Amino acid sequence: MSINIKVIESATRENRLNSITGYSGTVKDLVKKVQCGCLKNEERCFSQASNCSSGCAQGYLSRILDAAIVNHGAIGCSADVIGENTTFKWGQNIRSWEKKDVNVINTNMTEDSTVFGGRDKLREGIKEAYKRFKPKAIFVTTSCASAIIGDDIKSITDEMEKEIKIPVVPVFCEGFRSKIWASGFDAAFHAILTRIVKPPRKRRPELVNMINFNGSARDYITEILSKLGLIPQFVVPFATIEQISRMSEAAATISICGTLGGYLGNGLEQQYGVPYVKSIQPHGIAGMDNWLRGLGKTLGKEKEVEDYIDSEKRRIAPELEKIRKKLKGKRAIVGMGPSFSHNYMRVLGELGIKVIWGISWHFDQHYDHGSIPESSIALSKSEEDIPISICDVQNFEILNLLNKLKPDLYIARHPGTTIWPTKMGIPSIMISDEYSAFGYRGIIDFGHSIIDTLENNSLAESLSKRIKLPYTSWWLKQDTFKFLENEVK
Ligand code: SF4
Repeated sequence: MSINIKVIESATRENRLNSITGYSGTVKDLVKKVQCGCLKNEERCFSQASNCSSGCAQGYLSRILDAAIVNHGAIGCSADVIGENTTFKWGQNIRSWEKKDVNVINTNMTEDSTVFGGRDKLREGIKEAYKRFKPKAIFVTTSCASAIIGDDIKSITDEMEKEIKIPVVPVFCEGFRSKIWASGFDAAFHAILTRIVKPPRKRRPELVNMINFNGSARDYITEILSKLGLIPQFVVPFATIEQISRMSEAAATISICGTLGGYLGNGLEQQYGVPYVKSIQPHGIAGMDNWLRGLGKTLGKEKEVEDYIDSEKRRIAPELEKIRKKLKGKRAIVGMGPSFSHNYMRVLGELGIKVIWGISWHFDQHYDHGSIPESSIALSKSEEDIPISICDVQNFEILNLLNKLKPDLYIARHPGTTIWPTKMGIPSIMISDEYSAFGYRGIIDFGHSIIDTLENNSLAESLSKRIKLPYTSWWLKQDTFKFLENEVK
């Protein structure tokens, strides 16, 4: 286990999981290289802007219903709040709740603070967050500026905690610590594991922690788990501090995403003996089979799980066949976070679509439980060896690939990359809901959504006739991986 809850900071993914952001090759080659211990990160001698782990930590924590965030940094470090607020409101909308904004305050570090220290601004920010939001806990997220000048965040949060008598928890997630923004999830989960989750008051054999983002499939999951005599507790967004503090009482933890859930799931197992179900993601058919079987095995519900799988697969078979016929022969490129990417590549294959390239924003060589990501192993065992690359959303590489390979479809999970193929006239889908293609019902809905996108591409076609791309024709003709240092040019 690589999680150390005795320290106040989580280690970055590069240090804990040997994660990389540069590679080009194939799925089988990638997994083989990890197995023989010879996969190395390929550095880029040119790169464009990417994301930041601070935004990731802050965005995730800001959706806890009765917590507040104090972002100790320059005002620009809180620019992500606009997107976080939109996501928070979307989550409230699908629950038919009255809408409110995220509880986030930025300490507005300026040149003065970086010279004379930001301690007073941080104290003021924590007091203001307490006064404005009356939260049950305050998370203080760090920034490059606060880390570089060495503000002693821990002593200030300890001091303020004594004063306001609620947990005031530092989250060490400054952007420059890691090139992998998912390290921000780990920083958030580390704060939760070490300061919010309490030892169990009692064991609850019916309760399952479900780690996810926004929880649109709550009713579907509740329905599935009720057939197994289980009740899901959706965490961490849209849960309360009290609910999160009792995660240690659950019978098991499952996650919608291997990249997201590994730190908290493994941490709960390590610290409180709550088993973490290590499976491929529940997207598509093989994913849902594996996810449910993993849960069933952990909780001794194998028979109930097999009955459910059998009835659902028989129910969707005729519709799935019709969809496959319509999508047969279509060629797609996928661009997503590592676990989503390798799972959606499999899902597209289940729909009859040929994945001609898969891009992931990073790759964890192993998870915190020691295994190579289950979804990557599963993909590497399929008959076809799919070309893949790894880049932290380097759009110059992605557009170069799209221009060369000219897929029928581009599917991504980050909006910044779907804009460009649309402008190139390529039909594209942005998966903002983590439950798209979830399980047996989801794959049918997802199949229809792809058919709709392919049949109505007039927006992309129209845009492509009017828009000039930011990249020159010189770049589009170059080797896509020209700036990856280990490539032979
Ligand atoms: S990389 Fe650093 S300076 Fe930039 S937004 Fe993230 S924390 Fe702020």
